[in-house]
Amino acid sequence: MAKTCIVCGQAAGSGEHVFPASLGGRRVNSGIYCPKHDNSYSGLVNEIAEQLDFLNAYLGVRPDHSKHPKTAYGEHTLTGETVSISAKEIKFTKPRVISRTAVGEGEELHLAFPNQQSVKQFAKKMEDDGHEWTPLSKPSARPYITGSIHHKRKFGGACGLGAIAYMTQTFFAQEFPELARSGTLSNFLNYTQAIAKVAALGGCEQQPEEREELIEARAAVTVALEPFGGTAPIWWDFSPPAGARANKFEFGHRVTVGIDGFDGQIYGRVALFSTLTFAVHLGTAPQGSATREVTVDIDPLAEHPPHDIDKHQVLSAPGRVQVPEHATEGLANALADGTQQRAFANLLERL
Ligand SMILES: [Zn+2]
Repeated sequence: MAKTCIVCGQAAGSGEHVFPASLGGRRVNSGIYCPKHDNSYSGLVNEIAEQLDFLNAYLGVRPDHSKHPKTAYGEHTLTGETVSISAKEIKFTKPRVISRTAVGEGEELHLAFPNQQSVKQFAKKMEDDGHEWTPLSKPSARPYITGSIHHKRKFGGACGLGAIAYMTQTFFAQEFPELARSGTLSNFLNYTQAIAKVAALGGCEQQPEEREELIEARAAVTVALEPFGGTAPIWWDFSPPAGARANKFEFGHRVTVGIDGFDGQIYGRVALFSTLTFAVHLGTAPQGSATREVTVDIDPLAEHPPHDIDKHQVLSAPGRVQVPEHATEGLANALADGTQQRAFANLLERL
């Protein structure tokens, strides 16, 4: 089958990740997007990667483009300094002054450095800046206990949901290549393209005074959402399909895509770390479409294929979704009754 971009129909490039590389996706697919449209989603991918950064850092996920596990940054509660966190180590990012004492014309400093390299950089900077200084002792390495570290992250939001919608659409195109190119997804693609533009322009957070380009991009999202009654066709979902099996991997993600031939519903579900759960309504398949559902569990800790995913297919639609009347109702309930907080606390504990 010809590999064409599902957005524009031009020849597709190759080498894009099915599950984002920054989240530990290891599978490279050939032929879902042209280079331009593959790139158009990078703002959304960056947004979801930022939202999940410290979870991936705790877990030790290695982004597929990197040799090193993910690093995130937090604030050291005691000193207010920035610390970097990875599964390997937690360290301060800058030299810290432990004490300073006036001595004659100058002062005596007691400093702590994140590592030996930082000591050398400091010494070089002192010399470059023309400071006269003498080391009073050799640096010695010593581990320390950081105490509590503070992070604040927001999950979801227009761009976070847009990123999940994009991931779902990519998996759908992977599993249902013909339907993805039949025009059936056109409204959905308009929506993901529109929100991707907002993300690319740095508009995931509302800015005080927004430039014309961003205002236009926001207006385009509103227009793109009209066919969906004004709300994004993706929502936080707390009604998993009955009898769904547990994720194959301890810290696995799951993406489900399917078609219910009964009424043509094209649907998707995404569960990140089995904890952050979303449902998606991608469109309606033509009459006579076969019922089929594909579920892929993804291990973000796998080093490489083939054991990075676990895929199942059924000729039924157990995961079909119920589009809620109010998109945020399920989330509001899950927050109010503590369901989501418990799920998240459980994840953090396991991490
Ligand atoms: Zn394209």
